[in-house]
Parts: sequence; structure tokens; C-alpha cells
Amino acid sequence: MTHTVTLIPGDGIGPELAAEARRCIDATGVAINWDVVEAGLSSFKKHGTPLPRAVLDSIEKNHVALKGPLTTPAGSGYRSVNVQLRHHFDLYACIRPCKTITGFKSALQDVDLVIIRENTEDLYSGIEFQEQDAATRELIELVKKTLDKDIPPDSGISLKPISRTATRRIAQFAFDYARRHKRNKITAVTKSNIMKYTDGLFFEEIRNVSYSFPSVPLEHIYIDNLCFQLVSAPQQFDIILTPNLYGDIVSDLCAGLVGGLGMAPSANIGDNCAIFEAVHGSAPKYAGKNEMNPCALILAGVMMLRHVGEHAAADRLQAAVEKVVREGQYVTRDLNPRQPVGTREMADRIMYFLQ
Ligand code: NAD
Repeated sequence: MTHTVTLIPGDGIGPELAAEARRCIDATGVAINWDVVEAGLSSFKKHGTPLPRAVLDSIEKNHVALKGPLTTPAGSGYRSVNVQLRHHFDLYACIRPCKTITGFKSALQDVDLVIIRENTEDLYSGIEFQEQDAATRELIELVKKTLDKDIPPDSGISLKPISRTATRRIAQFAFDYARRHKRNKITAVTKSNIMKYTDGLFFEEIRNVSYSFPSVPLEHIYIDNLCFQLVSAPQQFDIILTPNLYGDIVSDLCAGLVGGLGMAPSANIGDNCAIFEAVHGSAPKYAGKNEMNPCALILAGVMMLRHVGEHAAADRLQAAVEKVVREGQYVTRDLNPRQPVGTREMADRIMYFLQ
């Protein structure tokens, strides 16, 4: 069977990594018809929009996409295309596995955890009030009137909505995932001692859902303690369930535990579509240098292959990546700073083990 998959090469280091991921996925023998479309900064410069209609149409039609990282200009410019895609397709669950590769020399061993992150709400909802806008002044007045709290008049404000509906949905997804993947427990992450009405609600609703899954234990941890525990004893965690922003930050931390951002894949899942990508960004200063690790995007490809039911090919590709990393001789600078090879050469070695 041929699968049609949308491929967004992305910005910065995206195109070179996407090319290698595509080669490696094709080398598994799975028939994929790649529908290549352009989004992000390159599209903005050419077409005046970072997210052309053709990109949305392609994902809508194919239901599955592999995406290189996209640049989001800091401060001004356009809003994050990644966040727009997650909202547009209601990709409410973000899954980020973090696993040490047995035999690879790293500071930590035996880490095998999955971050499941609510992907649509929280401080990522993009509801922001600009400093000095009339609406911002009104909001400041409303807060004074209703809560008797002062917000300095020269403030910008970002809102953090967390709903029972979205929390219930991600909790059900996480418990179901735990059951299907034989995971042992879920650790929910909040700062509910400070944000009672948002983080407090998040944990309360997760606990409600947990009653329907008695075989999956649930525990709770504050985000600050989680960070300490992760760098001291990450092996104690299995599934970490977080609201949107904490999940984003903790994913980078966890990537650092298991070999760095070059090794960390990510899946954004909704009821109708799924987009697979690396956790890392477009690292523009390394663009075109053939230096960055292609594995995060290749492992995102592994997740994509599983999603479309190609489990045998996914297993083979994952095993090939692990062999190359364990062998340590044909790897990029992040994994072997003394004698690195290039992006393309590392992908060549992965393909060698696929033969
Ligand atoms: P980044 O992830 O692009 O880079 C941070 C550092 O991580 C790099 O300097 C590099 O040392 C390392 N790194 C990243 N990818 C690597 C790889 N494949 N192999 C080895 N090392 C790697 O983060 P940033 O510099 O904060 O962001 C750059 C741009 O990417 C921004 O515009 C940001 O908005 C965007 N971004 C996009 C996504 C996405 O598309 N999902 C995610 C994060 C950031």
C-alpha cells in the first residue's frame, strides 16, 4: 500500500534534515508518496504568508505530515506556524518519548519516559494583550474591579486558559496510551499551589479521569520539583502528563538527558490528523552546514511509520538509528565532538544498517 504524506521541509536546518529523513524512511521500503509543501519563513519571504492555504489543504487531504522545524520571529512578525497548525487541526496531544540508547556512553542510563503534553491551551493559546492597548487598559480595570488587584499600567498580558474539556481529553488520551503501551504510571505536573484555578483544575480533572483506569497509577508533582527529580533520578518516571508550557520546557530538559535535541522526536496527534516533527527548532546559524544530527527527525519518521501501521519498517529504522549511535563512529558533533561526521554521512550509515 502507498501512503501519501505531507512533507514540510521547514526553515534553517530543516531542509537538509528533512531530505535525510525522507531518504531513510524511503530506504525502509515502505511506499510513500511525498506531497512536499512549503511553510514558515521561506514561504513568508516568497509568498507573503508563512502558512499558505496549500499547506493546510495538503494535511487535510493526507491526514499525516512530517515537518521540519519552522522559524518563529521573536517579538514581532507572524505568530508561530507550529502553534497555528496545532490549533487548526486540533492536534491536542503532543507525545515526546525520551529513551536512553543502551550501550551509548551517556551520563545517564535506563531513562525511558514519555512526555504527554496538552497541546492547545495554557499560555500557548496565543491570547495576548499588548501594552497600552485600549483592551489591555479595560482588562486591567476589570481585574481591579473584580479582584481588587493592581496590574501596572505599562504591562502586557498573556492569558492562561485551562479548560475541563481539554484536560479531560488529554487525560483520557494519556491513560489510554498508558494502557496500550503497557506503561506503569502517570505523573501529572502542575504548579497548583500557586495557580489553583488553572493548574488546580488540570490535576482535579486528571484525577477524575483516572477513576476509569484503575490499573494505571496516578501521581502528582510540582513542576519545580519535577525539574530537580529529572536531573537527579529520571528513571523513576514513566509517563509525564503536563499542561502545554511546562511540557514544552520539560521536553528540552528530557532531550538533554538522553543525548540532546538531536535525538528527540515528537508527535502532534488529533482525531483526524497527525504531524510528526523534531523537538528542536530551526537552529538557523547551522543551516546548510551539514553538521546537525538528523536523528530527531528520522525518529519522528519512525513514529509516523507506526502511526500509519508500518510497524516492521518502524522497528527496523529505529534499530538502525540505535546501532549507529551505539557504534559512535559515524555520528554528528553533538554525539562525538572529537571525530564527527556530517548530517548526510550519518544518514548514510543509518541506511547501511537498513540494507
Ligand atoms: P533550536 O532547537 O533551533 O536550537 C538550539 C540549539 O540546539 C542549537 O544551537 C543546537 O546547538 C542544538 N540543536 C538543535 N537541533 C539540533 C540537531 N538536529 N542536532 C544537534 N544539535 C541541535 O532552538 P532555538 O535556537 O531556540 O530556536 C530557533 C528557531 O526555531 C526559533 O525561530 C524557534 O521559534 C524555532 N523553533 C521551532 C520549533 C518547531 O518547529 N517545532 C521548535 C523549537 C523552536
